[in-house]
Amino acid sequence: MREVRVRFAPSPTGPLHIGGVRTALYNYLFARKMGGKFILRIEDTDQVRFVQGAEQYIIDSLSWCGISFDEGVHVGGPHAPYRQSERKDLYRQYADQLVESGKAYYAFDTPEQLDSLRKEYELRKETFQYGPSTRMVLSNSLTLPVDQVKALIGSGTHFVIRVKIPDNEIITVNDLIRGTVSVESSLLDDKVLFKSDGMPTYHLANVVDDYLMKVSHVIRGEEWLPSAPLHVLLYRFLDWEDAMPAFAHLPLLLKPDGNGKLSKRDGDRLGFPVFPLQWTDPKTKEVSSGYRESGYIPEAFLNMLALLGWHLESDQELFSLDELVEAFSIDRCSKSGAKFDPEKARWFNHHYLSAKPAAILAGYLIPVLKENGIDAGRDYVEKVCDLVRERIVLIPDLWEQSWFFFNDPISFDEKVAAKIWKKETPQLLEDYIDILKRTEPFTSVNIETVSKQFVKDKGIGMGQLMTPFRLTVVGTNAGPGMFDMASIIGKDTIISRIKSGITKINT
Ligand code: GLU
Repeated sequence: MREVRVRFAPSPTGPLHIGGVRTALYNYLFARKMGGKFILRIEDTDQVRFVQGAEQYIIDSLSWCGISFDEGVHVGGPHAPYRQSERKDLYRQYADQLVESGKAYYAFDTPEQLDSLRKEYELRKETFQYGPSTRMVLSNSLTLPVDQVKALIGSGTHFVIRVKIPDNEIITVNDLIRGTVSVESSLLDDKVLFKSDGMPTYHLANVVDDYLMKVSHVIRGEEWLPSAPLHVLLYRFLDWEDAMPAFAHLPLLLKPDGNGKLSKRDGDRLGFPVFPLQWTDPKTKEVSSGYRESGYIPEAFLNMLALLGWHLESDQELFSLDELVEAFSIDRCSKSGAKFDPEKARWFNHHYLSAKPAAILAGYLIPVLKENGIDAGRDYVEKVCDLVRERIVLIPDLWEQSWFFFNDPISFDEKVAAKIWKKETPQLLEDYIDILKRTEPFTSVNIETVSKQFVKDKGIGMGQLMTPFRLTVVGTNAGPGMFDMASIIGKDTIISRIKSGITKINT
């Protein structure tokens, strides 16, 4: 069997969209599952759309996710260089080979000429295509005399090289997800393969590199399906059919309402990030949020992405990266678009984050404490993390859910106070302080026992004690169980908060 070699081939035209991360992930899973190789190739032949910093962003994003490569622009390998701009000199010979074999031709039409043709067609409500029906009336090596073509090229006139799409032919792409996809060649146009700036276009460079890098499977987004027939033709025209990779076009990621593709331009507009890491546009300085900076952890992010377009028959949802490698197969990828569900992303994050050992959670919280000028002992922070873990969805929730373990409340929720703070409450809490003072050791169990006895002796319900108690300790009626919380915060602080709460709420 052919060695499995797959590649992720992004163009550095901006930050990597989460759909791109999913494409990289599926390629990675497939390579690992099959014991093959995974390549990172940077397709930067479009100099106009090149964005400074995008390549590094792509590398950093995938490395944050834990997606690793065997060969690529950042790790090298037997087929280096892996950046197309550095392979520039290699493509021309293939374009020339296509011209010599009559599968491509030189075209001299200027952008202005083509533009005015397009406009003319538009006026007639038609679409201009450079192709079988128009090429013979345009300015190219099929219509001009050989000498003139030579003279034009010799004098440095700008030209492009276009593929010559065959007339009336059915071109078939065998897709591992979609089955057989057939296209009538008249629907294709004579795409430019080689540009006047001396660079190949995506189509030529992509096919040449997949061939030279011995890529066995092309796994990419559905938006590339319309290009696949041209790629199949190029393999044939270059006599590489035997080495043609298998194709798999992944379903689109859709907006949460299913209305259209989730695009880069959606940015933060829909209320959730569409990029793995925060991105600052180098030109406009506009900042787009990222999953990492929003407090997601990589295992949750990857698990969520893995299920957008692939699932097991059992509908199992929770997978570690190793389990994904084990379970993944292309034939369980779906054809139809996958709706992105931001709530599900939060659900996964809660699942993985709340299961982290206290030491890891403390590692997330300590820098925030430092920023707030708090220097708490590690043991204490870990105990706090254990107590609030069930309440956290994103990393910043750790602080939101625990600040009152480190600071006294500075305000008291007026609505809660209006509802539960009665004239007899201060005395009740004073009596409770006397009980707490005598509670030794100050453990959760002991506090619970004395509190139960206390309300019983007073002839009141537990809530009548607990809500005002909580209000003085936290400032609201939120937070984890009072007995656990009180035992961790400690007797002295608890008593002083009750006292200060009584004074402040009374006034
Ligand atoms: N450079 C293309 C992109 O930016 C690669 C498409 C492919 O995988 O063939 O997505």
